[in-house]
Amino acid sequence: MSKLYGALAVLKDLNLQVTHGEKIALIGPSGSGKTTILRILMTLEAIQNGTVWVDGEPLWHMSGKSGLVPASERHLHHMRRRIGMVFQHFNLFPHMSALENVAQPPRIVLGLSREEAEERAQGLLRLVGLADKGANYPSQLSGGQKQRVAIARALAMKPEILLFDEPTSALDPELVEEVLAVLREIAHGSAMTCLLVTHEMSFAREISDRILFLDGGRIVEEGKPDEIFSEPREERTRLFLKKII
Ligand code: ATP
Repeated sequence: MSKLYGALAVLKDLNLQVTHGEKIALIGPSGSGKTTILRILMTLEAIQNGTVWVDGEPLWHMSGKSGLVPASERHLHHMRRRIGMVFQHFNLFPHMSALENVAQPPRIVLGLSREEAEERAQGLLRLVGLADKGANYPSQLSGGQKQRVAIARALAMKPEILLFDEPTSALDPELVEEVLAVLREIAHGSAMTCLLVTHEMSFAREISDRILFLDGGRIVEEGKPDEIFSEPREERTRLFLKKII
C-alpha cells in the first residue's frame, strides 16, 4: 500500500499484517509516516494504491472508473465501530461533561439508551481512575485526566482494534505516568489489537509484542522488543535509538 500527499510519498510499498490481539508499537523519526498508518486504518486518509483489509474485509477497493475508493458507507460505518482511536490532543467535546463525552458514542452509534450508555461510561471512568470526575467539563480537567477520558471514550465502543497516536506526547512530564498506567492495564488485560505510535521507548518495549521501526515511509525493521532494542539489525535503527534513548 502507498500513500501520497500531493507529490510527497509518505508511505512507500508498506506491507503490514497484524494478528488478532497483537500489541504493536510504531517508532521512528518525526515524519516517517507512523501517524499516517493509523489515520488510514481509521479511514481518515485515503491511499493511492494497494489494499487495506480488516478481518478479511477491504477498507478500500478498486473501482473501474475512480481507481481506489473507500468501501461503501454502510461498510465503513460498520468498520469504524470496530476500530477506536486515541489522539495526541484528546479531541474531547468541550461542551460535554466527561461522562457525556464517554456516553455519547455508544448512545449515538450503538443506539444504547441514555441510562445504559451512562452506566457503561461510569464504569469506564472508574476503570481509568476518574469515577469522581464525570461531571467535570474538559476545561476542568488536567491533560492527563483529559487523555484518560479520551481512552474511556474509545473503550466505550468496545472496539476490537484500538489505535493510539502519541497519547502522552502533549502531556506535562509529571502527567505521563498516569496515562501510561491506564495503557498498561489495557495492553496486559485485554484481547484488543492495539497499535501505538509513541516516542516513549521504554514503554514501547515493555508492552508490545512487536516493534515496527519506520523511516522515510518504509518499515526499516520489525521484531520483538528485545531484538529491536538490544540487537537492531539495521544501521538506521541503531542510529535512531542511540539518539533517542
Ligand atoms: P511525528 O512523529 O512527528 O508525529 P509521523 O511519523 O507520525 O511523525 P506523519 O504524521 O505520518 O509522521 O507524517 C508523514 C509525512 O506526511 C510527513 O512528511 C508530514 O509532513 C506529511 N503529512 C502529514 N499529514 C499531511 C497532510 N495532511 N498534508 C500534507 N502532508 C502531510
